[in-house]
Amino acid sequence: MHTLIVAEAAPEGGRPQRLRAAANEDAAWRASPCFSCMTSPCCTHVPLYRFRAETKQDIEYARRLLRHEMFEIGIYDSGWWMVYYLAPCRFLNLSNSKCLIHGTPHQPKVCRDYSPIRCWYKRVFTTTDSPDFIRLDQRRIERLARLVRFDNEDRLADVPEWEALLRELAPIPPADGARPGKIEPQGISPVPSPAGIIGSMHTTQFLFPLRTPTRAEDLDLLRFRLGFPGVAVGRSRGGWLLVISAVLQEAAPAGAGAADDPAELYCFDSLVAPPAVSPEQAKLPAVLHDLEGFDRLAAELSPGILP
Ligand code: SF4
Ligand code: SF4
Repeated sequence: MHTLIVAEAAPEGGRPQRLRAAANEDAAWRASPCFSCMTSPCCTHVPLYRFRAETKQDIEYARRLLRHEMFEIGIYDSGWWMVYYLAPCRFLNLSNSKCLIHGTPHQPKVCRDYSPIRCWYKRVFTTTDSPDFIRLDQRRIERLARLVRFDNEDRLADVPEWEALLRELAPIPPADGARPGKIEPQGISPVPSPAGIIGSMHTTQFLFPLRTPTRAEDLDLLRFRLGFPGVAVGRSRGGWLLVISAVLQEAAPAGAGAADDPAELYCFDSLVAPPAVSPEQAKLPAVLHDLEGFDRLAAELSPGILP
């Protein structure tokens, strides 16, 4: 992901070497695919939750999600659906699209290890649709909802073939909500407390199941996700959860598709969760961690999972 170039005044005696190093770094940055990638989708899209749409409830869940700002769903040609949270990472410098913590111990390993050569994020998120990946926003899910049929048990019975779906959605390009410059970074302030969020007229908390962290990679992925303002992690008696506060956006423009409101499904006391989250798990998490609480969380978990 993005390379950090620090323009630094050289101390006495170190000037030529430092200038050379800076020039080398600058040349490397200009040669990188990231240099011409000003929308930085790798630093503005957080994968949250993967599921398969198999029932009417799954489609209703997707519709409900996409009525809120900062969500997008990607459909892979393998049949998996992935929910993405759209917001610039708090460490993304929006003026030059560079990572402010590149190469420091604070940068998640998942970012350090990602190769920009033949970058998947750039390929799928800087175009409307790729041959193997369909992007869904509010207008597109409404269109898709009109194209599918269900059987008597509300299971998906009739779904357009992949190529037909690409054709149907092509006239409705997805909105690019998370592109830098459109959504401002939210800084390093903690997310609002659950008590502050619940009761707000237009904000809903969405819960996504999270595998219990048992390995160093799990902890690293948590650090990456918590770098995005608005993402928190919680633990209830039923398990681990990602917690996202999302704002309802305006209704889909006329003509976009289905007119009915999404059914009020998977709601547990003002929280919304997919079918994979049990009511027990969806009870308001006792502990919420944002990035500020990460070190405490890591210290708590590390004895069991780190070498
Ligand atoms: S999406 Fe890919 S090319 Fe663009 S900044 Fe990220 S790693 Fe670089
Ligand atoms: S820490 Fe944030 S800005 Fe830096 S590379 Fe990772 S996602 Fe991008």
